[in-house]
Amino acid sequence: MQPASQRTQNSILALFSFFPSLISLLFLLHPFHLPACLSKSCFFPASPSSIMLDTSAKPTEGEPQSPTSPTSPTLSGSRYSKHIVLTTYPGQSGIDPIPLEWGAPDAKSRGPVVVSRSSVLLKRRNAMGAHGGSYSIYNALAIASGELEPDFRPDLSNSQPTFNFPWQPAWGDKTKIVSMDPWGHDIVNQFRDELDKGWDIRPTMAVTRANMNFAEISEAVKEGKLEVDGSIVVDASGEVRVTKVAVEPVWYLPGVAERFGVDEGTLRRTLFEHTGGSYPELITRPDLKVFLPPIGGLTVYIFGPPERVSDENVKLALRIHDECNGSDVFQSDICTCRPYLAFGIREAIREAQNGGSGVVIYFRKEGRALGEVIKYLVYNARKRGGDTADKYFTRTENIAGVRDMRFQALMPDILHWLGIKKIDRMLSMSNMKHDAIVESGIKILERIPIPEEMIPTDSRVEIDAKINAGYFTTGKQITTEDLTAVRGRGWEKWEDITH
Ligand SMILES: [Zn+2]
Repeated sequence: MQPASQRTQNSILALFSFFPSLISLLFLLHPFHLPACLSKSCFFPASPSSIMLDTSAKPTEGEPQSPTSPTSPTLSGSRYSKHIVLTTYPGQSGIDPIPLEWGAPDAKSRGPVVVSRSSVLLKRRNAMGAHGGSYSIYNALAIASGELEPDFRPDLSNSQPTFNFPWQPAWGDKTKIVSMDPWGHDIVNQFRDELDKGWDIRPTMAVTRANMNFAEISEAVKEGKLEVDGSIVVDASGEVRVTKVAVEPVWYLPGVAERFGVDEGTLRRTLFEHTGGSYPELITRPDLKVFLPPIGGLTVYIFGPPERVSDENVKLALRIHDECNGSDVFQSDICTCRPYLAFGIREAIREAQNGGSGVVIYFRKEGRALGEVIKYLVYNARKRGGDTADKYFTRTENIAGVRDMRFQALMPDILHWLGIKKIDRMLSMSNMKHDAIVESGIKILERIPIPEEMIPTDSRVEIDAKINAGYFTTGKQITTEDLTAVRGRGWEKWEDITH
C-alpha cells in the first residue's frame, strides 16, 4: 500500500501526463518529488515514471514571463529526443541497476561502475556523475559542438597498464578505499563481456611509464648530489625513469560520509545543493551509492621498480604533494611548494637507488583546494595588509571562510591501493597529512622537513605560520610572538598606486 503522499503525487502525475509543458512548470514551481527527509531511515518514494521536461515549451508571446517558468534552449538536429529524463527513482518501471557491491573481494563480484546515460544504460546505470572528473564538461562541449558522437566508444587496444599492480586486501575493503575504483585500471580484463556487449564502461585509472627531466634533479646530478645509475637516473643530463598512475575520483558515498563524520543523507543533499542542483539522483536514488564527482584526481610517480612499493622489507620514501601551479610550474617564490616537490622527487630517487622505493603523489587540489582565484585574492590581502606570519591564516579565513579545504580524509586511499603498510621517510611537514595516514592504519617512521636552504625568503611567512599551527619541524619551534616579526616582501617596488 502506498503512503498518501505517494498516491497524491501519482495522481498529480497522471493528471498532467497529457500536458508535458505544465509538468515541466510544476517541476520547477513545486519540487514535490523531492523527499524532505534525507536520513537513512527516511522513506524514499518511488515514482511510477520519470519526470519529463518538454523542451519544446515556449513562453507565450506577449505575456510577462515569471522568473520561475522554464525557458527552453532551442534544440537543433535530432541528436536528442525532445523529452529530457531529469531524474529517475528506485522501483520505477524498468529501473534495474547493474549490481555493484562496493568492497567485494574481486572485480567480477563487485561489478562494473556504469555511469552512462545512454538510452541502453540509463535504466541500468549504477553510478551518478560522469567520467573524466572536471574534464567531463569538456567532453560535453565536444559532443555539443559536433566534434564527438554521443555514442562514441573508445578503442582500448594496447592501453593496458605497463605494470600490473598486485591485488591488495584493501581493494576488497569498503572502509579502506572509498574515493577511487580499485579496478579502474583493469576494466578491459575484468569486464570484457560487458564491453563486447557495447556497454559504455571506462577506465578511471591508467598506468604508464615516462622519462622526465626536472631542472632541480638535473642540477643535483651535475653537482654530484645524485648519482647516475643507468636505470633510475639514466644519464648525466639527469634524465629519470618513472612509472606513473593517473587516478580519477570514484566515490562510494557511504564510505565518504563516514570519513567526514556526517550521515549519507547530509552529504548527498549538500553535494546536490552546492553543485547548482546538478545531480538530482543524489536525492532521488538513494540506492545508487557511487558518484563520479567533477573534480580533479591524482597522479602517482614511482621511482625504481614498482613492485617494491608494497614490499614491507624495503624502505619507502614518500611525498604527498598538493597542486600549486604558481610555484610547481611557474616557480613563484611566495611558497615552498616547488622546492619541496623537487626535494621529494630527489629523496624518492635516492631511496630507490638505495634498493628501496620512492613515491611522489600529486593531488589536483590547487591552492589548498580553494582554487587560484581565492588564492590570489588572499595574496593581495596579505601584501596590502602588511604580510606578517601571524596574520597568514586569518587572511585566508577572511576570504575563503576556512584556512584549508584539502581535507586529507580521502588521501590515504591511494596508499592502501598501492599496498603501502609503512612509510620509512615521510617527506612532508603537514600534520593533517600525517594524521590522516596514521589514522588509516599506515605507520610513519620518520618525518623529513624541507631543508632550510631550499626555503625561498618570501615563503617564510607561509612555512613559519604553518609550523606555529602544528606543522612538523626538526628546527626551531615558532611561537605566536615570533610570527609577528616574520614579514614577507611588500610591493614597494611595484607601482601599486593610482594614476
Ligand atoms: Zn604553493
